[in-house]
Amino acid sequence: MTMPDRDGWTVETLHDNYAQALREDRVFYDSETDHQRLRVFENGRFGRVLTLDGVVQTTEGDEFMYHEMLAHVPILAHGAAKRVLVIGGGDGGMAREVLRHTSVDHCTMVEIDAGVVDFSKEYLPALSDGVFDDPRLDLVIADGAAFMAEKHEPFDVIIVDSTDPIGPGEVLFTDSFYGHAARLLTPDGILVTQNGVPFMQPDELRQTMRAFRTLFPDWGCYLTHVPSYAGGPMALGWGSMSVKGRDVDLAVLKQRFAAAGLQTRYYTPEVHKAAFALPAYVAALLS
Ligand code: SAM
Repeated sequence: MTMPDRDGWTVETLHDNYAQALREDRVFYDSETDHQRLRVFENGRFGRVLTLDGVVQTTEGDEFMYHEMLAHVPILAHGAAKRVLVIGGGDGGMAREVLRHTSVDHCTMVEIDAGVVDFSKEYLPALSDGVFDDPRLDLVIADGAAFMAEKHEPFDVIIVDSTDPIGPGEVLFTDSFYGHAARLLTPDGILVTQNGVPFMQPDELRQTMRAFRTLFPDWGCYLTHVPSYAGGPMALGWGSMSVKGRDVDLAVLKQRFAAAGLQTRYYTPEVHKAAFALPAYVAALLS
C-alpha cells in the first residue's frame, strides 16, 4: 500500500522508521492547549479517535481493551480496593472503569490538562459515560508528579494512564515519581502503568522495570492488545508491596469478577491470569 497523501489522513510517527495512518472522515476538534495539541476525528474503523501531539491516545473502537485491563486487573487482584488514584486519564475512560466497581469508595483523578477533560466530555462522551458526575470521583487538574510528591494519604491501587514519556508525560516515567507511588501504596497496594508497546518501545519498559525492581517486592508487567497502539501487544507495568495480588487464584478471581457484576468485552479472569505470561522477547526486557 502506498503511503496515502496527508490530506484527509492523520499519520502518526511516534516510532522511528514506522508510521500509522488513519483516515479522518470528519475532524471534530483541533486545538492547542497550554500543554499539548488536542485533535478528535471520526475514522471508519475506530470511531472517534483522540490524538495528543499527533499520537493516538484512545479510540471509541478499541479503548475497552486498554481501560478494562488497566483497571480490573489491579482492582480484582487486590480484592478490597477502596481508594484508587488515576494519574492522567483525561478522557475519563479509566475513571469510568474504576468506578464500575461499587466496592471502590473513592477515585482521585489527577489530569494535567483541563482541555482534555472538557473536550472529551463534549466530543468523546461515550468514553467517560457520565463518570465525571459520579460523587465518588475527585478530579484534580494538576501535574501528576507534583501531586504525588505532596500527597500523604495512601491508596490501594494507583493507575498511571499517561501519554508516552514525551512532553508533559515524561515526568511520569521517572524514578522519583515511582518512588512516591511506592510510598503512597497501602501494604497490599498495587501500582499499574501504561508502558507502551515493547516491540516498538523496549527502552520505555526496560527503564520502568529497572525502577520497579528496586522499589517493589513484587514487580513485572502484563500484556494487553490494543490495535490502535501499533506494533504488537502493549505492556502494563505492575508493582506491588506484596505478592498476594499477582498470586490470586483463578477461582478467587472468578468469584470477585462475578460479585463485581461487570460486563466486559476484553477482561475475563482467565485473560487476567494469562496476561502475566510473557513472550521471551518481553521477559528479556525485565532481566
Ligand atoms: N491510553 C493512552 C495511552 O496509553 O497513551 C493515554 C490516554 S490519556 C488521554 C493520557 C493523559 O495523560 C492525557 O489526558 C494527558 O493530558 C495526561 N498527562 C500527561 N502528562 C501528565 C502529567 N504530568 N500529569 C497528569 N496528567 C498527564
